[in-house]
Amino acid sequence: MLTNRQLFLSYLGQTSAEPLMLEISRAEGVFLYGPSGEKYIDLISGVSVSNTGHRHPRVTEAIKKQTDSYLHLMVYGEMIQSPQVEYAALLSSILPSTLNNCYFVNSGSEAVEGALKLAKRYTGKSRIIYFNNAYHGSTHGALSIQGSEKYRGAFRPLLPDTLQISFNDLSSLDAINKDTACVIIEPVQGEAGVIYPVKGFLEKIRNRCSENDALLVFDEAQTGFGRTGFMFAIDRFGIVPDIVVLAKALGGGMPLGAFISSKEIMSSLIANPQLGHITTFGGHPVCCAAGLASLKVIMEENLVAKCNTRSAIFKRELVHPLIKEVRGEGLLLAIRLTESRFVQYAIKYAPSYGIILDYFLFCDNAFRIAPPLIISEEEILTACRQVKLLLDDAMRNAANG
Ligand code: PMP
Repeated sequence: MLTNRQLFLSYLGQTSAEPLMLEISRAEGVFLYGPSGEKYIDLISGVSVSNTGHRHPRVTEAIKKQTDSYLHLMVYGEMIQSPQVEYAALLSSILPSTLNNCYFVNSGSEAVEGALKLAKRYTGKSRIIYFNNAYHGSTHGALSIQGSEKYRGAFRPLLPDTLQISFNDLSSLDAINKDTACVIIEPVQGEAGVIYPVKGFLEKIRNRCSENDALLVFDEAQTGFGRTGFMFAIDRFGIVPDIVVLAKALGGGMPLGAFISSKEIMSSLIANPQLGHITTFGGHPVCCAAGLASLKVIMEENLVAKCNTRSAIFKRELVHPLIKEVRGEGLLLAIRLTESRFVQYAIKYAPSYGIILDYFLFCDNAFRIAPPLIISEEEILTACRQVKLLLDDAMRNAANG
């Protein structure tokens, strides 16, 4: 009989020459467990998904309750399903008042596709402006606005009338003009290695968009739900986009995405043509029930405020000769090392030190630390101790040639 490892390599579509290949049989809180009892602290949350930890009891309870009522009923937007409507209303209550109309989909990429279509439809224009090192997903539209030719180039032709400009270069914003349908931006760039906008950058984008009747789209797939020490990056910067994209932690561990705008903007999907965006499974009731429960946990357990104190412990503890910088706020941190070969070593051998780390797509000199927001002080201390032992090992290994 083939082992799971052999089945994985034989039957699953592979995209990586060196997949992590860790077998996990159970996950709970900040821990992942292997089949023989191996225990790992999850320092990446499945890439900014498990903000309330793995299998939070309130999330699994909501999932079980929903499976006792109904699963899929009908394509999106026809039947009234309480997890969807309650979740949309709660999201609206914590977002700026103009972001009050929610379209649920299945993933971040899909939410980006919806947002781009909505911007084109509402403005009647086609040009989409995006930034270098942006990551918005892997579907054709999202790939067309990915700020790295390395991943994009092989799949041409892509969406026409897209324009890449430079993140944090205020002069590049002059490209936003009357032809622009929308500007899409991660308010804090994630895959670029946690890059914050310089002062005045988002303000200028907001102004240029308003002056030119272009919509501003914030992709908060990674920054949402407390990750940066604010519920949304919108709150961190005090800039209100016309459309916000949410995903990842939105589903509390289940697949869910959303694009949210004003009712006026969203209404442009109703006519000419009717059914301007269709999804079979978008806003699946079980995923909405899970996401709703997870958001209530974030709010009631005050995880956003706690995120900042936890961030400070990481910053205090992560001092090591190989660490050049701990970049970021909240629990979305880039640990920049002296050389990228140490990053590769650290990620590869992290599991043997009982921790899970990960890469950034467009930043090879740093690794990611983005644990569940529920991580305790003691767990952080253990994790940091292990990171430092791992880096000691990387240093020793380099010295030995
Ligand atoms: N936008 C951002 C900012 C992301 O980080 C990601 C995923 N890393 C996506 C969109 C795409 O989300 P998904 O993988 O769910 O399609």
